[in-house]
Amino acid sequence: MLDIQAIRSDFPILSRKIYGKDLVYLDNGATTQKPRCVVEKIEEGYYNVNANIHRGVHFLSQAATEAHEEARKTIQQFLNARHAHEIILTRGTTESINLIASSFTDACMNEGDEVILSVMEHHSNIVPWQIQAAKKGITLKVIPINEQGELCMDTYRSLFSERTRLVSVMHVSNVLGTVNPVKEMIDIAHQHDVPVLIDGAQSVPHIKVDVQDLDAEFYVFSAHKIYGPTGIGVLYGKEEWLDKLPPYQGGGEMIATVSFEKTTFNELPFKFEAGTPDYIGSTALAEALRYVNAIGLDNIAAYEDELLRYATERLSAIEGLRIYGTSSHKSSVISFLVGNIHHYDMGMLLDRLGIAVRTGHHCAQPLMQHLGIEGTVRASFAFYNTKEEIDALAAGIVRVAGMF
Ligand code: PLP
Repeated sequence: MLDIQAIRSDFPILSRKIYGKDLVYLDNGATTQKPRCVVEKIEEGYYNVNANIHRGVHFLSQAATEAHEEARKTIQQFLNARHAHEIILTRGTTESINLIASSFTDACMNEGDEVILSVMEHHSNIVPWQIQAAKKGITLKVIPINEQGELCMDTYRSLFSERTRLVSVMHVSNVLGTVNPVKEMIDIAHQHDVPVLIDGAQSVPHIKVDVQDLDAEFYVFSAHKIYGPTGIGVLYGKEEWLDKLPPYQGGGEMIATVSFEKTTFNELPFKFEAGTPDYIGSTALAEALRYVNAIGLDNIAAYEDELLRYATERLSAIEGLRIYGTSSHKSSVISFLVGNIHHYDMGMLLDRLGIAVRTGHHCAQPLMQHLGIEGTVRASFAFYNTKEEIDALAAGIVRVAGMF
């Protein structure tokens, strides 16, 4: 059992008032709040250990380098990656996917080659591939979903061809909450000798991820969605694949030697980390992962599951409320609409009650087109949320609905 009140006291922002009302923060899918230890880690970094890393002979530079590389090891252990140099630090999920889209397309794809995506992808796992498609004439194939918002696995199997070069899919949908059967999908792709990229932005905060067990070639996530800082994220890649791919950006750090005649690139992970890295953000991310580990992802998953069940029950009982995404394999996200009430109106009026939800297309316009809607209201839960907050949400929805 989690001591939710003790956990909540680690997050100062949760005791804020909004328009004089208790904040009910249900926008965790967009970004999570930060525990005090993460913010303190950032402060301590800037106050005590700040110096540019890797290149310095002086004490502070070495201390900062050590902290940054220790953080990489914490991330490695968190994902159970084989090597620390398989962890590339980026600006976030979006940059990690852009990196692979660019480097993988350069190295491994020719005109007419194919990438398999799904209809539920976030724009950050669609647009980078479209940019490459426009440059190199590659084709995107799309896995559809069923009524419950689950991927159609038979169609997935049928999308493979001689020209399939990569599968790139999300682990958990940021809109539907569906937990995709990625282990099975990776297995199927491997039967065709096709590598797989998994967008883990919405999975790592909720599910224990073991990249060796999944056997994914690439796995990506953002720190800010797992109680860490903004502006930093992770690309895990199998060593043999990262070795094969060309650098994404050029600059300092990513080189071994530079001359105008010939430049040689640095070894992993530095080959993919051009410029001064976010060495404060990396240590803060490691602190967030330690915080999550201390609570335990199994405990988090069990509690969030209970929240999801309770919220589903409470919201389903509201007249005219429709939930999008009804898979039995679902993470703690509920997307919904009520009658003809526009999602934006519902979100704005809930906000006046102190309830923070997200509205709109959630960076998944192709999914919205598939569902035949413009957008939804989305409540996404974290382990610091409570059933009382879900009661407040349900009461808020009823109150707003009564205004129309
Ligand atoms: N993928 C999914 C499934 C997401 O939910 C998000 C953010 O909402 C992203 C990718 C993009 O993450 P970021 O903006 O941190 O790069």
